[in-house]
Amino acid sequence: MPWYFTVTSDEFGAEDFGPYETKEEAAAGIERVSQQAFAMNDGIERDYTMPWEADYCMDCGRAVPSLIICPDGAEICQPCFDEGKH
Ligand SMILES: [Zn+2]
Repeated sequence: MPWYFTVTSDEFGAEDFGPYETKEEAAAGIERVSQQAFAMNDGIERDYTMPWEADYCMDCGRAVPSLIICPDGAEICQPCFDEGKH
């Protein structure tokens, strides 16, 4: 499964970066993005997650850190679950 990381800020919300083939590549990606953000010096405060391994929602195909297993056996993401599809 591919790896991603998430950058969160008040201005842009949560942004997923990826996919990366390995956890190490994702970690290097975090390093790169944080250095670029620092160089921009735009005053935006960003939070970086650790690399996370993606699972794919069976309904929408979105890559997410974890899936919700429904009573009917479907494994879906939080937004799909919130829509009450299963
Ligand atoms: Zn979904």
